[in-house]
Amino acid sequence: MYTDEKKNIHTQLAFDRQHIWHPYTSMQNPLPVYPVTRAQGVRITLENGEELIDGMSSWWAAIHGYNHPKLNAALAEQMDNVAHIMFGGLTHEPAVELCRLLVRLSPTGLDKVFLSDSGSVSVEVALKMALQYQQARGLHNKKRFLTIRGGYHGDTFHAMSVCDPITGMHTVFSGALPEQLFAPRPQCRFSTHDKDWDPTDIASLHNLLAEHHQEIAGVILEPIVQGAGGMWFYHPQYLHELRSLCDRYDVLLIFDEIATGFGRTGKLFAAEHARVSPDICCLGKALTGGYMTLAATLCSDQVAETISQGTPGLFMHGPTFMGNPLACAVALASINLLLESNWSHNIAKIEQQLERELEPAKEIASVADVRVLGAIGVVEMQQPIDMAMLQKFFIDHGVWIRPFNKLIYLMPPYIISSEDLSRLTGAVRKAVELSDLMLSEKNR
Ligand SMILES: *Cc1c(COP(=O)(O)O)cnc(C)c1O
Repeated sequence: MYTDEKKNIHTQLAFDRQHIWHPYTSMQNPLPVYPVTRAQGVRITLENGEELIDGMSSWWAAIHGYNHPKLNAALAEQMDNVAHIMFGGLTHEPAVELCRLLVRLSPTGLDKVFLSDSGSVSVEVALKMALQYQQARGLHNKKRFLTIRGGYHGDTFHAMSVCDPITGMHTVFSGALPEQLFAPRPQCRFSTHDKDWDPTDIASLHNLLAEHHQEIAGVILEPIVQGAGGMWFYHPQYLHELRSLCDRYDVLLIFDEIATGFGRTGKLFAAEHARVSPDICCLGKALTGGYMTLAATLCSDQVAETISQGTPGLFMHGPTFMGNPLACAVALASINLLLESNWSHNIAKIEQQLERELEPAKEIASVADVRVLGAIGVVEMQQPIDMAMLQKFFIDHGVWIRPFNKLIYLMPPYIISSEDLSRLTGAVRKAVELSDLMLSEKNR
């Protein structure tokens, strides 16, 4: 009797609706959630048997698709040895080999690794490193952070404080958040040409640094691609100039590569587009190929040494599940899988196809902009979209795409076939045409 009830999907959904928070939801009148029973490759199977093509990679993470035999094997093998062990006073091969690989692959000069549980925590760790670094140098006034508008760095407190103040959570938590400094979002679009760069683009940030550098510990931003704050791609020269400004004004440069890391933008790390190394760098999301939660904060020798020579001579952070062996083992397997694959070629192919198949949407009146970089395709609408309506529309069309605000975007697993990718772009185009129709009817 009890097990029957437990297995009944309607009872489960009713319980979910009444008792379980989902990301950014209300418990009063939540939008529907769809039960998943299986996921394989780029296909997500719903409880009713419907199959959806995945356009989201579970928020940038599942780059190899789901249920990958090599990743499954890595987890199973590690599970037989040790699933978890505290990282205080103990270490293990998966953590050592993962960190060795991260140091080797990440932008030059990032030689020290701090492992943590999630992206937001890795951002807290980065900001704490910057604060401890400045304190160790006796620069006690350097306690604030400078960032650009349109950023997203996570949901914990200091991470929230550097998210975009309008689309982020500043209003809700105003008074409880540290007050940071914001430069305008870079206007020059991503391009590999110098002629597309306008030096005045960084003037406001320069002014803020010139005026406030004595109170600034570091500048934090997402290199090249701003993710959840608006899916905006900006010019690499911005980062190039920012690097020299940070050196000139003695503030640390922190890159949040949580969304961009591991190939998504067409380079292994987005910093490579600008050939710039930050002092501190956050990694997460695709780090474990979407299998488990794990993040890393890398920093330079200089940052690590300064912190270690200061008072109290320790870096003051240490999560319970730091360096979880299962997560490290699957991360190691995922990165090796990526390196052994023809990832750069695959992403270039996805990029070309996204350009070819999404660009025509530019002609539609309700579309404000279409942009593509690497395995990311974005259609920005003039108006916020009807989330509930579009969610259902996409499911009815056999695809999993989760738009937000004015943005309908794709970031599929790198293994997606061109047929499956066409089904994703086709559904986006149809959705845009439908929104256009609804809009023109409303305006009639
Ligand atoms: C997702 C994201 C985070 C937060 O990571 P969580 O794992 O959700 O805590 C931080 N920064 C960027 C750029 C992200 O995309």
